[in-house]
Amino acid sequence: MQIDRSKQLWKEAQMVIPGGVNSPVRAFGAVGGQPVFMQSGSGAELIDVDGNRYIDYVTSWGALILGHAHPAVVSAAQDACSTGTSFGMPTELETRLAGKVADAYPGIDQIRMVSSGTEAVMSAIRLARGFTGRDLILKFDGCYHGHSDGLLVSAGSGVATFAIPGTQGVPASYAEKTLVAPYNDEAAITEIFEKVGSDIACVIVEPVAGNMGVVEPGAAYLQHLKTVSSKFGALLIFDEVITGFRLGPSGAQGRYGVTPDLTVLGKILGGGFPAAGYGGRREIMDALAPKGPVYQAGTLSGNPVAMAAGIAMLDVIASDPPYERLDSLAAQLEQGLGDAASEAGVPVQQNRVASM
Ligand code: PLP
Repeated sequence: MQIDRSKQLWKEAQMVIPGGVNSPVRAFGAVGGQPVFMQSGSGAELIDVDGNRYIDYVTSWGALILGHAHPAVVSAAQDACSTGTSFGMPTELETRLAGKVADAYPGIDQIRMVSSGTEAVMSAIRLARGFTGRDLILKFDGCYHGHSDGLLVSAGSGVATFAIPGTQGVPASYAEKTLVAPYNDEAAITEIFEKVGSDIACVIVEPVAGNMGVVEPGAAYLQHLKTVSSKFGALLIFDEVITGFRLGPSGAQGRYGVTPDLTVLGKILGGGFPAAGYGGRREIMDALAPKGPVYQAGTLSGNPVAMAAGIAMLDVIASDPPYERLDSLAAQLEQGLGDAASEAGVPVQQNRVASM
């Protein structure tokens, strides 16, 4: 395969962009070789700058549930662009998308839009702290919730440990407000809450863990998180940045029948544009400024182009639900990979939940 143009662009990028990329996973560190630079995408296919064609299994890290350049999404975004790309004032599109999300998610009465999953998680945690008047947060080892300070942490040693910074640049004093527990371990959660439960503002979890391979929650695990956190007055946050609209139109909360206090959405929500959001019960969301005392804001939040794309994407999903097809395509891929591995005598473990 010839990638001369990508090679040239990679050299140039490294001169003016740190590490040549705007997000570290794009540097191909985990897969080897150098990144290939993309020219265009259509449906499930990508074409790079040297004219090579690919089937795209990345789909912008899960954001493009309809594939590249879906005509309905492109047309909605073009229409929105042609009438102005940002106003710094409210638009009807924000209310329309929020309404659709609130209709789909049992845990969401109201949603505040922001621009990235990281920002949505960070804001949801501030809201949980403001609402409960508590400082500690609890996350799970192996779950990723974006790159904000308190969440970019590693587990210390042992169960129920206070976290240590997972990167240079995070003060130890920030990481100390985060507790880290093992995923899928009911006893560990009970133990932590019995020790410090009255100081915990929230538990944040990927309801199907997608950032350490795919790990499905045990049958009663999510309900256990809900029961224990509500017993101690802590909020349960589902980070549905990956699972939202992917496991079904109501995400993991629809699939497993457990309703969190707060839900974080991203990726698919913006139809391939930068949009994310956090939502929950009305009484909690009322604590946000301008109504309540918890401040959070954004110049480009609820951007009309992203809102229009998100609405168009949700309309396509509603009128032609893709979930059975996604499921069977993912099963086919799983089967093919499994067969190829066993023919080659390579032991392999595949975890799949729907199209994750
Ligand atoms: N939460 C989860 C579960 C994620 O997988 C990610 C990103 O992959 C994030 C949050 C952060 O989202 P973003 O990359 O949009 O900041």
